Amino acid sequence: MNDEKILNALAPCGLNCEKCYAHVDGEIRQYSRKLKNKLGNFAAYAEQFATLLDDPIFKKYPDFQAMLDYLAGENCKGCRKENCKLFKNCGVRSCHQGKDVDFCFQCNEFPCDKTNFDVNLQKRWVAINERIRQIGIEKYYAETRDKPRY
Ligand code: SF4
Ligand code: SF4
Repeated sequence: MNDEKILNALAPCGLNCEKCYAHVDGEIRQYSRKLKNKLGNFAAYAEQFATLLDDPIFKKYPDFQAMLDYLAGENCKGCRKENCKLFKNCGVRSCHQGKDVDFCFQCNEFPCDKTNFDVNLQKRWVAINERIRQIGIEKYYAETRDKPRY
């Protein structure tokens, strides 16, 4: 994988947009679409199964279906191509363009207080960027490629 493809995957904050549930080509969205397709008209069966199989789990199917519809429907192209569709208040995207850096760890202000992240995400942002600085972008991408984002 070349640098450009890695840059399309990794946002300037270091999080992997391709593993975000909202990414148009992400596996979460793709598998959600497949599962939705495979389940077909399961909603009608779930209603019957609640009584026929005497199992109340099937009464929760509408909530599961709503979540699956949501995961299958998101379509963000990633932080380097459009504004984040989930975290509209993100301070990194617009800021890094003005700083002329690919990642926050390359910025002379890192770690700053401009991200608008909460405490947990701020800690994760610092850890990710320190790791990228330590081992380089290609190795970081390879190291995290098969791990879940969440
Ligand atoms: S820009 Fe935001 S919504 Fe889009 S893929 Fe990246 S994290 Fe997800
Ligand atoms: S000022 Fe902060 S958010 Fe902006 S590029 Fe530098 S480290 Fe990232």
